[in-house]
Amino acid sequence: MGKMAKKQYHVQQKQAERLALAEKKQAIALVEKRFPQVSGLSIRLTYYNEITDSVFMVRTVNYFPSSRADFHMHCIIKECSNGGFDLTRKIREVIKVHKKSDSGDMRCKGGKGTLSSDHASMSYEISVQYHKKRKKKT
Ligand SMILES: [Zn+2]
Repeated sequence: MGKMAKKQYHVQQKQAERLALAEKKQAIALVEKRFPQVSGLSIRLTYYNEITDSVFMVRTVNYFPSSRADFHMHCIIKECSNGGFDLTRKIREVIKVHKKSDSGDMRCKGGKGTLSSDHASMSYEISVQYHKKRKKKT
């Protein structure tokens, strides 16, 4: 490895470390900290196994103000690495516009290589409860 390449590698390592740390911090943040206006949130998930063309699992994940604001759902396929479904962005959008519910679907982007790109998908129904705004005393 040349001097330049070595330096480049070192920089990349540092960036990767920083990113991992940021992700860790993000996962630790509580709902009440990230979304103080939210009093409750639930996500109903339907996981589809595209390989067997069947519903794998249906589950509801509930969040409270004291819950960790971690909206990354793991892929149902064991062999899938670096996959899963990240609802963080979607949830942020929903809360930003003060929407009470939203739904959609997502495809797992992980597991490139031996797994086909359409091995798993999921549909989600998000519902959000907001704190009632306190009326200001006049
Ligand atoms: Zn996957």
